[in-house]
Amino acid sequence: AIAVEARGVSVEYDLSREKSTLIALEDFNLEVREGEFLAIVGPSGCGKSTFLNVVAGLVEPAAGEIKVYGKPVTGPEPDRAVVFQDYALMPWRTVEKNVRFGLEMQGRVDSTTKDKVAHYIKMVGLSGFENSYPRELSGGMRQRVGLARALVTEPRLLLMDEPFAAVDAMTREIMQEELTKIVATTGQPIIFITHGVDEAVTLADRIAVVTNRPGRIKEIIEVDLPRPRS
Ligand code: ADP
Ligand code: ADP
Repeated sequence: AIAVEARGVSVEYDLSREKSTLIALEDFNLEVREGEFLAIVGPSGCGKSTFLNVVAGLVEPAAGEIKVYGKPVTGPEPDRAVVFQDYALMPWRTVEKNVRFGLEMQGRVDSTTKDKVAHYIKMVGLSGFENSYPRELSGGMRQRVGLARALVTEPRLLLMDEPFAAVDAMTREIMQEELTKIVATTGQPIIFITHGVDEAVTLADRIAVVTNRPGRIKEIIEVDLPRPRS
């Protein structure tokens, strides 16, 4: 089945100060299959985040069609979760309460919440840090909180926007390994934005290489490396 289908998607931003429009994506076509880990690589400013935001329902395309599991995207939906580059954690909330926020936002807090939150905190290796605050954690740990907050909603599609950009190289390697394991467990499709080709090759099943402005796909690379899958 097809998880994401983009056909002829164009996005324009109004630059009101300059009285002009910027074409961030033009006639963008991409398919993401169910269970696939797709990386999007390309130079800074080529429209990667814009595309992710279109899939998330946060940016409306000027033209084209975007479907998630066959349904046209009209806005944010609980079936998609985003992991942001800067984590977007709430500093005044503990790890547990930040993760819980993923469900709160969707009005899905119930008697199962406590167990679910604990389960995903454990999955990202943060058991014992439930009551810590973000400022007490390293960059890598904060990003794991962001990941748990996304996973706890059990999305059918995980959108990751340079999630490891702000963590050091060693932590990044550990997190890449963890993510690979998590993907093997949960199996949901992932769109992963990075400007690191190495990272894309390590993690993805397929890599979409986007050219410089206005953001068109130059090549799709099928990655054929053995990687742990269950
Ligand atoms: P990437 O993620 O590949 O770095 P982006 O999607 O963030 O690229 O940006 C694509 C282009 O659109 C860039 O030129 C960027 O400056 C511009 N852009 C992104 N968001 C906005 C916005 N909200 N308003 C105006 N221009 C934007
Ligand atoms: P709100 O308007 O509900 O405060 P924002 O749109 O300002 O939420 O939230 C932007 C980001 O800032 C959110 O993704 C969240 O991580 C964080 N945030 C900060 N304060 C709040 C809050 N009181 N409620 C929800 N999110 C918040």
